[in-house]
Amino acid sequence: ARKREALVVEGKVEPREKLLDEKLRRLFGRSLKLRQVSAGGCNGCESDVNVLGTIVFDLGRFGIQMVASPRHADGLLITGPVTENMKLALKKTYDAVPEPKIVIAVGACAISGGPYIDHPEVHNGADSVVPVDLYVPGCPPHPFTILDGLLGMLGRLESEPAWMARFRETGERIAAENLEAMKTW
Ligand code: SF4
Repeated sequence: ARKREALVVEGKVEPREKLLDEKLRRLFGRSLKLRQVSAGGCNGCESDVNVLGTIVFDLGRFGIQMVASPRHADGLLITGPVTENMKLALKKTYDAVPEPKIVIAVGACAISGGPYIDHPEVHNGADSVVPVDLYVPGCPPHPFTILDGLLGMLGRLESEPAWMARFRETGERIAAENLEAMKTW
């Protein structure tokens, strides 16, 4: 789900969705390269992101690739709770990504601190350090949910063949179940 609040950019109030659409317009037609930043936690989210690289999901066929250097990336994909120790590293990694850059928070820890929120060293989500464009809920989110979020953000779900509807259906169902489960925390 994209957060629907506004951002203040250079003194102007802009809806987050408009800013993300503008970034995606400037990236349109290219493959999307992401630098994964794992802030730890139980590493469940990191593992599910890594599953997307296996032959079952084969993320590369959708034109999405993980890269080692933030300087070669179009954005960051963050998993795990951002701690005080991690804050500077995340900020520097974000600064190294060229504009326009996209930030994706995957999992409850990256969204809000998740189960670690009460720890004094843990920040209230990655967006307390860098601006986040896309939030993928879950603890951890199923790889289908992550894929659904990425393809939905890029507007590629509609242009994909019919079997992609199954991805969307499964991804959205599991995301809804995860959101319900997180309400009990
Ligand atoms: Fe682990 Fe859940 Fe945090 Fe993901 S959101 S890193 S699965 S505790």
